[in-house]
Amino acid sequence: MHEWALAEAVVESVLEAVKKERFTSVKEVDISLGELQDIEIEIFEFALKKLMEKENIFRHTKINLRVEKTLFRCRACGNEWSLKETKDIDKDVREAIHFLPELSHSFIRCPKCGSPDFEVVKGRGVSIDSIRGEIDGSED
Ligand SMILES: [Zn+2]
Repeated sequence: MHEWALAEAVVESVLEAVKKERFTSVKEVDISLGELQDIEIEIFEFALKKLMEKENIFRHTKINLRVEKTLFRCRACGNEWSLKETKDIDKDVREAIHFLPELSHSFIRCPKCGSPDFEVVKGRGVSIDSIRGEIDGSED
């Protein structure tokens, strides 16, 4: 499943970062998920928890999942707007965009100047925002 593969990739990156920092235990991990990312958050969170359970270092870890709202920026006039502010698109189109963000250029125009030339600044992909851990020399 998509969610599991993604969760695995996230856990791997967290582990890598944790090793670099020489943390002996991880307290909190902040992860953001793009609004346009085609992911079931409940499954993703479940997968993360299951995968992290296997690692001793994560036994007291709190996972903070946040959904990052989409932000578009017009290349013509510099205007920035969110998916919610995008007018004239119905639910079906919104869903199509959700699955295929590339499609958004066929449906979305800058609300200010009407240009179809824009970039998706936020709302795609998954990122690890921060990791808080402890270094405890007495352990192990
Ligand atoms: Zn514009």
